[in-house]
Amino acid sequence: MNLILLGAPGAGKGTQAEILCKKLGIPSISTGNILRAAIKDGTPTGLKAKSYMDAGQLVPDEVIIGIVGERLSQPDCQKGCILDGVPRTIAQAEAIEKAGIRIDAVISIEISEDEILRRMSGRRVCEACGASYNVEAVPPKVEGICDNCGGKLIQRKDDTPETVKARLEVYHRETEPLVDFYAKRGLLKAVEVADNKEATNAKILAALGLRL
Ligand code: ADP
Ligand code: ZN
Repeated sequence: MNLILLGAPGAGKGTQAEILCKKLGIPSISTGNILRAAIKDGTPTGLKAKSYMDAGQLVPDEVIIGIVGERLSQPDCQKGCILDGVPRTIAQAEAIEKAGIRIDAVISIEISEDEILRRMSGRRVCEACGASYNVEAVPPKVEGICDNCGGKLIQRKDDTPETVKARLEVYHRETEPLVDFYAKRGLLKAVEVADNKEATNAKILAALGLRL
């Protein structure tokens, strides 16, 4: 099963991708996490991506298409995968189609702009494994420490209010048209965020017609 998670920054795509990955037994591919790891490692891709990410702008399509193509060719993706944060432009979606990757469903996680702004200020991510938390809504068991791997939780550089505003603009302009793109293909399932991550996940599984 190949799934796409669509949604504004802060909608909880990464959190839901992690839960789905455990429940469905397929890997989640987060272009944001791959890019952050590349920046940390100082790879050529990381060097290219950094200025865009810090400014809240999209990394160029060819860079993303390269990353995704390479990742999807790895053996653990043969049973399927969850695409978290990609595609983010029509060009990326078309590249995925052209590559012959069959998409089974696209979950659009819907959230109000007020809620996004509230969430982003409390967001923390694990420096080591990329897992995301929220000081209010999804706190770790021990403050500042990742539940999964014991890594240190930090605030992302692009979670400052100004950069969040830029990311929201980019989302409306570049990514929101994908809702229509996938609705036309009969793949879209809209799910409104619920009170907590488990409740939201239950709605996603129901939308997919799964009972796990
Ligand atoms: P969020 O969904 O919360 O904005 P991500 O971790 O998915 O965060 O992405 C962080 C940044 O990484 C984006 O603002 C963008 O600069 C870059 N990025 C991630 N995925 C893509 C993509 N598919 N296309 C272009 N840029 C991307
Ligand atoms: Zn971790």
